[in-house]
Amino acid sequence: MMETAIMPVRLTSPEATQGNAELLRMANVFAKKAMRLPTSYEYKIETPVRTSPESYCAGCIDAALEAELKKWPDEERAQFSTSMSAGAEYDGRAHCYKCGLLLDCRLSEYGGETELRYFSSIRFTRLRPPSELEMYHLWKMLESIAYHLDTAKVSLALRVGRNALAALAWDER
Ligand SMILES: [Zn+2]
Repeated sequence: MMETAIMPVRLTSPEATQGNAELLRMANVFAKKAMRLPTSYEYKIETPVRTSPESYCAGCIDAALEAELKKWPDEERAQFSTSMSAGAEYDGRAHCYKCGLLLDCRLSEYGGETELRYFSSIRFTRLRPPSELEMYHLWKMLESIAYHLDTAKVSLALRVGRNALAALAWDER
């Protein structure tokens, strides 16, 4: 289950604001198109000393905790737990450490830029429209660029988004 978060908007210039609104509108279109893609919230193991660096999906976290507990003496085990984070920010695509399922997260500014660079190297056409997975990542990229507002990147992101929409023959109005 995924929901498109309405993100706080930093107003800089009228242009950027307009770009930002269009980015968010496009992000919504891709979010809806990618809705059936299986994803999970991100889960982690909390130990007495740290949060596990590995992230897990909802289906794998219990088994991952079990496996971790086996390494510890009985009296320590009560101190272990799991945590769920909705909308954590990442520098890239996040996947379950165990099964590889896509984890729902937000992209940091760096993550958004990386995806933007990647997508601006792809030319979508009617014969090569974005896949469902690409639409998911387009959604996350557009959301990140809209949130971490930067006029130069906004115009490039708009171009990438419009190209992908045109390839889908999607009427965005
Ligand atoms: Zn998993």
